[in-house]
Formats: sequence, C-alpha cells, structure tokens
Amino acid sequence: TTFEDWKRSDAYHNSFLLPKDDALDAALKNNKAQGLPDIGVSAAQGKLMNLLAKSIKAKHVLEVGTLGGYSTIWFAKGLPADGNIVTFEVDEHHAKVASQNLEAAGLLDKVTIVVGSAVQELPKLQPEEPFDLAFIDADKPSNLFYFREAKRLVRKGGIIIVDNVVWNGSPADPNITDDNTEGIRTLLKAIRDDEEVEATTIGTVGEKGYDGFLYALRK
Ligand code: SAM
Repeated sequence: TTFEDWKRSDAYHNSFLLPKDDALDAALKNNKAQGLPDIGVSAAQGKLMNLLAKSIKAKHVLEVGTLGGYSTIWFAKGLPADGNIVTFEVDEHHAKVASQNLEAAGLLDKVTIVVGSAVQELPKLQPEEPFDLAFIDADKPSNLFYFREAKRLVRKGGIIIVDNVVWNGSPADPNITDDNTEGIRTLLKAIRDDEEVEATTIGTVGEKGYDGFLYALRK
C-alpha cells in the first residue's frame, strides 16, 4: 500500500463522515497562503478531537502548539457556548495567522492565544477551573515537561492527548536518536511509572503519513 492509497482512503471515509466546512477549509487555505507548514492534524483526527471533547462534555481545553489554529477550530466547535480554549504558540507569525483564522470562523471569542514558549508560559497558568482536556502538539523534546504541566492543569477524569508519538516508527528504532525521537521516548518512560495516568498509543495512517497519538486518562 502506498502513501497515495492511504490519502485516497482518508478522502473516501471523509466523504461520508466529514461534511464540507468553510471555516476549516478557509483556515487551511490561509495557512498555506501565509507560508505555514502543513503539519497540523488531519481532518479525520481533528474530528476525533472534536468528538472526544464533546464526549466528555469538555468546557475548558488546553492546547500546546497552535500553528494556524486548525486543531483549535475543531476543538472550539466541540465546546458549549460558555466553553473556552487556551492555546500556546511560540511563533508570532503562526499566532497571528491563527488569530485571523479563528476570527474568520467566528470562534475567536472562545480562544485565548498565548504567544510565547509554552515552557515559560505554561507554569504561569493558574486557571480558576481545571481543564477537561489537554492537547500537546508542539516541540517534541519538551513533551514530558508539557505532560507534567497538563497533569497539574487537567481535572481527574480528564484527558491528555500527545500528538506525533509514533513518528514514523522512530522511537521503536534504537538506531534513531535525534532530539524529537528522544523526547517521545522520555515521555513514554516517565508514563510507565506514573500512577496518575493510564495511557495508550494509537498508531494512525492516512493523508499525513504514518504517525499516532498518545491518549491518557488523568486519574
Ligand atoms: N496543533 C496544530 C494543528 O493541528 O493545527 C499543529 C501544531 S504544529 C505541529 C506545532 C506548533 O508548535 C508550531 O506552530 C510551533 O511553532 C509550535 N511550538 C514549537 N515550540 C513551541 C514552544 N516551545 N511553545 C509553544 N509552541 C511551540
């Protein structure tokens, strides 16, 4: 099976399950026009994030790694009228494009974009109410730091999702030792001995290639 086959397969399933959405399409178009890399979640994974948020009746979502706000839009669409998202983005240009996309989608009032490194900014966060769901999708070497902060900030029974942990199979290949791969391994090792969460990795294949996400329940 080739990558083109998986792309076609995603498109096939999406044609039944993902209605055309002007706000999401416009965000992808604007991301491209403004030179952002195409490294956001796939449409199908975005919808899963949206469904998970709805399933647990999430009101407060934390996101690390905004890019152009594509995943942020999927989450925002899954929140009740009084729901909100706090999302962290280190790159000012990315944050500006995200703000445009969210505004065009009519969702900016639900979203706070914190511009700066989440390594510096997350520890300052002292929300009045805990988050129901955290989505970690930024620099991989900081995965464990973000995961610990997410545990501090997410309520018991809430969910922490870490994207890109399968990374084309690299963490399982001992010959690959780059910083991103090591960041994924460090997270997995820490979770093995962590009694505050229960977690599993789900590998995914589709239009974005071969990757996967970690799904953790905050106990
Ligand atoms: N969640 C987005 C989506 O699905 O549409 C994709 C996020 S993209 C994979 C990763 C983003 O994390 C990039 O925009 C990058 O600039 C940002 N990032 C990298 N290091 C960061 C840091 N230390 N703090 C906050 N954001 C960071």
